[in-house]
Amino acid sequence: MARKFFVGGNFKMNGTKESIKSIVKGLNEAKLDSNVEVVIAPPALYLQLASSELTAANVEVSAQNVYDKPNGAYTGEISVAQLKDSGIHWTILGHSERRTILGETDDVVAAKTKAAIDGGVSVVWCCGESLEEREGGRTVAVVEAQLAALAAKVSGADWNKIVVAYEPIWAIGTGKVATVQQAQEVHEAIRKWLKAKVSDAVADETRILYGGSVNGKNCKDLAKEKDIDGFLVGGASLKPEFIDIINSNL
Ligand code: PGA
Repeated sequence: MARKFFVGGNFKMNGTKESIKSIVKGLNEAKLDSNVEVVIAPPALYLQLASSELTAANVEVSAQNVYDKPNGAYTGEISVAQLKDSGIHWTILGHSERRTILGETDDVVAAKTKAAIDGGVSVVWCCGESLEEREGGRTVAVVEAQLAALAAKVSGADWNKIVVAYEPIWAIGTGKVATVQQAQEVHEAIRKWLKAKVSDAVADETRILYGGSVNGKNCKDLAKEKDIDGFLVGGASLKPEFIDIINSNL
């Protein structure tokens, strides 16, 4: 089946009311490929601002993180129900910055993913290897271990609420994009793993995004690969070239 191309913009801890309004205005006024599903993920403080400003069709707002407990004494955290209550139906989870800087393990990320899906919030679930792991020939093993932790927590039916983002850590924010071959190779391995460990349908239907220094120039070649179903974009999602990335297939 044809997988709908998906582009996420991860603003990370960037932006102000003014700059986020201006990015949303750019999206509202742009001519976007109607065959692409888009989410933008501003910092939590600006989720509602972005939602209220957004009029572009096929663009939704996503959180960058969520907690897996329903409510209570968890200072600084936001629950799935609170996202839903604020009209937010997407979250990124397991970004490598949260894994490496904030210490989120594969199991923590899997538990959060399950909680999000159970609460009706879809997930852009991130995985990817470090430079050391790649140089040690462990890329596929690392990604498979991350997938296995996720698959242990979610059911077959949950997968249609998950978009997988493969983001090699060495390519994030470094300007060092994975080659088309490097990306396609891992995407293919992920799809094979899904086929073997989950189901043919999930392998066939799950979107697998590439993330790591995607820009308006390199997106077109990456988008041509058969297992690359879109992008998760950091730095370039704050710039006008984000529109070119959304329109990679035009
Ligand atoms: P980058 O970030 O596009 O700035 O490399 C990608 C990401 O972290 O999602």
